[in-house]
Amino acid sequence: MVQLQTLSKNQQVVFDIIVKAKEPLKAYSILYNVQKKGIKAPQQIYRALDKLIEIGKIHKIESRNAFVACKNSNCEISKATAFSICESCEEVDEVSDTKLSKFLSKFNDKKGMTFKRFNLEFFGLCKRCKIK
Ligand SMILES: [Zn+2]
Ligand SMILES: [Zn+2]
Repeated sequence: MVQLQTLSKNQQVVFDIIVKAKEPLKAYSILYNVQKKGIKAPQQIYRALDKLIEIGKIHKIESRNAFVACKNSNCEISKATAFSICESCEEVDEVSDTKLSKFLSKFNDKKGMTFKRFNLEFFGLCKRCKIK
């Protein structure tokens, strides 16, 4: 995989942990994991998380207050993210739908407000949970 942006050591450590996780990670479990690798200050972790979000390597799932790695290479230039969240098994998936992102990039408030970024979350049941 081509690394477009060089990450600092802390950013790389945090990113690796999030990539390897099978589910969205809360900040405290990221903290717990990095402490094993010798990063002690929570401040450093939060700074690394902020930067990773800013460059589109990870996303924050606001409703779960958790972080996931980006699976969509277009995101690095896009400010519009959308996730589907299963309310039963908590599986989170990044929605990559060009129609949706095109619509969102042109979406403007009728009162004249322009939006810089979007973070959509769709809730429902995933395929596996539906047939249970
Ligand atoms: Zn993404
Ligand atoms: Zn599910």
